[in-house]
Amino acid sequence: MSSKKSLQSKGEEGKDSSNLTDAERLRVLAKSKLLDSASEEVYDRFTKLAAMLLNSPVSLVSLVDKDRQYFKSYYGLPEPWASQQQMPLSHSFCQYVVSSNQPLIVTDAREKAFLEHNLAIPDVGTIAYLGFPLVVENQALGSFCVIDTKPHAWSEREIGIVRELASFVTTEIALRIEIAEHQQVTERLQESEQNFRVLSETVPQLVWTMFPNGRRDYVNQRWCDYTGSTRERMQSDRWAHFQFIHPDDREGNRAFWQHALQTGEPFESEHRLRNGHTGTYRWFLARAMPVRNETGEIVKWFGTATDIDEQKRAEQQLKESEENWRVLAETMPQLVWSTGPDGVHEYTNQRWRDYTGLTPEQVQNNRWAHLQLIHPDDREGTRALWQHALDTGAMYEHEERLSNGQTGAYRWFLVRAMSIRDEAGQIVKWFGTCTDIDDQKRMQEALRESQERASVLMNSNIIGIFVEEGEQIVDANDTFLRMTGYTREDLRAGRINWRHMTPPEYLARTQQAHQELATQQSMTPYEKEYVCQDGSRLPVLVGGIVFQHHPLQAITFVLDNSARKELEQRKDDFISMASHELRGPLTALKLQTTLLRRQLAKQGTQASAPALSSMETQINKVTRLVEELLDVSKIQAGRLEYVQETVDLDALLREITETLQQSSPSHTLVVRGTGGTGLIGDRDRLGQVFTNLISNAIKYSPNAETVEMDLSASEDAVTVCVCDHGLGIPREQRDKIFERFYRVSGPNQKAIPGLGMGLYIVAEIVRHHGGSITVESEVGKGSTFQVTLPMKRV
Ligand code: ADP
Repeated sequence: MSSKKSLQSKGEEGKDSSNLTDAERLRVLAKSKLLDSASEEVYDRFTKLAAMLLNSPVSLVSLVDKDRQYFKSYYGLPEPWASQQQMPLSHSFCQYVVSSNQPLIVTDAREKAFLEHNLAIPDVGTIAYLGFPLVVENQALGSFCVIDTKPHAWSEREIGIVRELASFVTTEIALRIEIAEHQQVTERLQESEQNFRVLSETVPQLVWTMFPNGRRDYVNQRWCDYTGSTRERMQSDRWAHFQFIHPDDREGNRAFWQHALQTGEPFESEHRLRNGHTGTYRWFLARAMPVRNETGEIVKWFGTATDIDEQKRAEQQLKESEENWRVLAETMPQLVWSTGPDGVHEYTNQRWRDYTGLTPEQVQNNRWAHLQLIHPDDREGTRALWQHALDTGAMYEHEERLSNGQTGAYRWFLVRAMSIRDEAGQIVKWFGTCTDIDDQKRMQEALRESQERASVLMNSNIIGIFVEEGEQIVDANDTFLRMTGYTREDLRAGRINWRHMTPPEYLARTQQAHQELATQQSMTPYEKEYVCQDGSRLPVLVGGIVFQHHPLQAITFVLDNSARKELEQRKDDFISMASHELRGPLTALKLQTTLLRRQLAKQGTQASAPALSSMETQINKVTRLVEELLDVSKIQAGRLEYVQETVDLDALLREITETLQQSSPSHTLVVRGTGGTGLIGDRDRLGQVFTNLISNAIKYSPNAETVEMDLSASEDAVTVCVCDHGLGIPREQRDKIFERFYRVSGPNQKAIPGLGMGLYIVAEIVRHHGGSITVESEVGKGSTFQVTLPMKRV
């Protein structure tokens, strides 16, 4: 009875209802799936049995939720509860069994303080109650009970029966939960298997699973499609996949597998798989992971093969292009280098290393290592620019001097670097080249200097300069424009033309100069005149050269010659005046001497004869000089007069040689050949020509003994050669001796008196006769002057 007592007292304490809302209890209750479920015979049997055995009107399998009690089975329950199959907690005795997790044994509820107001008493007629908790997973889910509508003192036997039946019900519920859970696990497993299948069929890889013994239990459709094999074949033959692997990759693959199977480490291998339809191979990355059970044993391998063919090809191409780049970099005539995104050198070509004398190790750790090569004056610029490039990715371009590692000498280089970015736009590399521009730089400098010089020259206010293209003057300096009175506007408008500026009498000489320019690329300076803008004449000295790079253009230098010309004019005027002035008294002197000679002869005074003769010789010399001076000034003024007559050249020469032979006994004058007849000209003037030539021949061959004259005549012309064995004339002065007042410079010549007029007059007379004069000479051996005169038939 003590147990009964304790049970009853426990029941009283069980009024605490916090157990009813316990989350864990409610979770187990929900898991049992008993709430709101249909009636089941197995539970109904227990309630019926309890009612019968205890002779009670009501028996229940009652599950207590947090706000109601639900009857999984009920026996003898009155309406409306039977139809509703549940009751609110206001009508519940069972809740006390649950909240206390103890049996509740009540003989008369009306006597129990915690039950006396329970609505089950009036509404259901519950007076006596005997209930045991249904405990599953340590949680009281409900109560198995019998009820009596009159006071009932429950016997030990009755209590024992209810306890037993309650434990049956409990077992049944526990069993149900277990089955339900098992079912759930199975469902989940099925679901996850389903998910795996769906996943493995949708991923772009070839997928397979395999048992540790190597037997494949699954391959996805993609695998079958690619290899052209069937799922069945793959499942039956454990080495079936080998036939799809490229023969060269099979051994490696087998080794990887063996290692993975032995160690249980994940498998990874790159190999080529054959496409079953096309027969071509593609690269795949195969990976497999082991799946282990709770004891750590491998139960399966999950594997995938990912197509990496394009990636592989790209890698290959990259490798090849990298290789190509290296070859290119080594063959390039520049210094080539590359750095990482941080600017630290990664690669330098041989040329770079040879020039700088630096090893790759010396520049590998410091992005500024190369600064030591750079000329101190260029260093700051280089540093700033390189920093800017590294910060912004902008192209680097800089001219800087780099020192040669061996000689320490600096040369100018154009350094360029470009950044290479990856697909995401990140800089991955810098490629750079250094091009030697030292020669170019020096040339530029020289060019600049020469341009400067040219521009100084062009801007000089001494020399007029113009550039001509054809007859047109296309550019000119201010001096030329000032000299000629043209404006820059005239120049721009193309109104300046050197032919138009050339007076008619200078046209031939000008054209000759241009001819020379065309053939020799330069013209010997010559004197001419320009017609200025206002029509006035400007005497000038002109020289020119052709532009080498622009053969159609020539540059002409023009020197204002007016001052010199004026001076010359004054000199000429003076000579003309002086010679006129001298001629008068000289003529008188000569006359007087002749008279004196006659008087003395009459008087028979012979003693003064030699003195008189010497006087006459001197007077003749001076007279000749004055005559020549007069001739020169007449030639200058174009006023030398000639007569036309038949000239017997043989007789003329005989006469001259006889006279000269007398006055120059030191030399023997030899005349050979004949000049024929038919020469027309001025006998005196021609006599002047040969007198001059023979006199010179004698004068300039002081140590020689003979002077020879050779005459020859053809139908058209007569030629006279005057040949001496004297000093000779240097080549470069041969043309000049025919110029006015020109004398050959040289110690030997200096000692011989003369004024440089003879040959000038000779040349003029020969030219007037339509003839020509040339000279052949060898210094120290002698000279031959050859005069050719045209024959004119009378
Ligand atoms: P000059 O009065 O000085 O002789 P010319 O006009 O006759 O003047 O000659 C010019 C120059 O030519 C001379 O000064 C002389 O140096 C040179 N010359 C002329 N004829 C001869 C010659 N036969 N041999 C060498 N030199 C000569």
